[in-house]
Formats: sequence, C-alpha cells, structure tokens
Amino acid sequence: MKLLRLLANLGYGSRKDVAAMFREGRITDAEGEVLYADDRIEHARVRVDGEPLDPAPGMVLMLHKPVGYTCSTRDPGRVVYDLLPPRFRLRNPVLSTVGRLDRDTSGLLLMTDDGQLLHRIVSPKAHLPKVYEATLARDLRGDEAALFASGTLLLESETAPLRPAALHVLGPRRARLVLTEGRYHQVRRMFAAVGNHVEALHRSRVGGLGLGGLAPGHWRLLAAADLARLF
Ligand code: URA
Repeated sequence: MKLLRLLANLGYGSRKDVAAMFREGRITDAEGEVLYADDRIEHARVRVDGEPLDPAPGMVLMLHKPVGYTCSTRDPGRVVYDLLPPRFRLRNPVLSTVGRLDRDTSGLLLMTDDGQLLHRIVSPKAHLPKVYEATLARDLRGDEAALFASGTLLLESETAPLRPAALHVLGPRRARLVLTEGRYHQVRRMFAAVGNHVEALHRSRVGGLGLGGLAPGHWRLLAAADLARLF
C-alpha cells in the first residue's frame, strides 16, 4: 500500500492533511531519509516526526477498563476510546471493542480492527470462557452454583436456557463466575434471577488471557504469543 493511503487509514489525517505532511518532510525512514506519498516501504521502517508508526492494521489490544466508561464511540459521557491515543478512533478499518462491558463493569476488554478475529471471539459457537468476579448486595443462598451449572436457567424474556456456568464462592457476598457465552447484562441478570443484585463486577480473564499487572485505564498491544493463549 502507498504510504499516503496507509497513513490516512491509520488516522494521521485526511489524504490532504497527510499529503501536506509528506511535503513538509515529516515522514522519513528509520535513518531519517525523507519518504514520499507514493512510496511503499515496510511499516516498521516508517517514522512520523521521528516516531514509529501506529500499529499496522490487524492490531489487537487489551484495555483494563475502569468503571464509568462505555464501550461506545458515540456516548456523550466517557468512552473507552478516551483511554487510547486519539488517532485510534480514526482508523480504517475501525478499531472496535470485542463484545462489550457495561459502564459499571471494570476489567479486561479486548479491542481489534480485525473483523475475522472479532467474530471468532464473540461467536456463540466459540464458547470462549470469560471470568467475572462479582460483589453482591445480599449473601449467597447456597443453591446458586448448582442452578448456574444446570444448563436450565432461563433469563427473563428469553426462550433458550443459559449454558452451564461455573460459580466459585469467594465469600458470603463474593463470587467468581465463568461464562462461555455473552448475553446482554448476563451476569447481572443471572444474579437477579436468584434474588440478588450485583454491586460491583470485574472481568479478570478472557480465554487464557488475564490482565497481568495492567493498571485500570491502561492498555497494551497483544503479541502473537498472547493471541495463542486466547483460544
Ligand atoms: N455481564 C454483565 O452483566 N455485565 C457485563 O459487563 C458483562 C457481563
């Protein structure tokens, strides 16, 4: 791909803006040689104002989503894109969240511009385990684990029962829940179905990936080794 198009797709500006950046000599190779709009060179060797280019299309990142941010581009409040470099919102192909976490849920959120990978992760057939830690308003009754594991629990206004889910009791009002599907507000609705209320919810794992030491509000690119752990 010609550099002009590559940089425009990465969100550095309109084609006109990017053409001006070339004319100003701001686009160089790793040795500082000025590059031209029609050049095609390896992504890793391009510099803008001396800085390496943003990640190439096909990027996947992990964000530690804090409470209070929505997984949307258009919400008038705070959105997860506010936690990323502003250019990431302007990329083509678009950088999307892989599924969603509620505004009041924290934890591991994947984002990618790779549509095929996104579908592989969120596909109902993928059954990728997702691990949540919930803090509850009331003490657990004791029968939740058996009910959630039964594969018979029906959420309000749904016709298909939930797939079996594993509940691990961490305390009277704390539980870890492992889901292999992702229905709307699933964890909150599961606890509502057993007369409880989720006061705080955190996703700690997706597939074999955890947050590691990633602090709330921070993100990192995933490497091939991370992706291998995902499935
Ligand atoms: N289940 C929920 O209820 N909320 C989330 O954000 C994720 C799973």
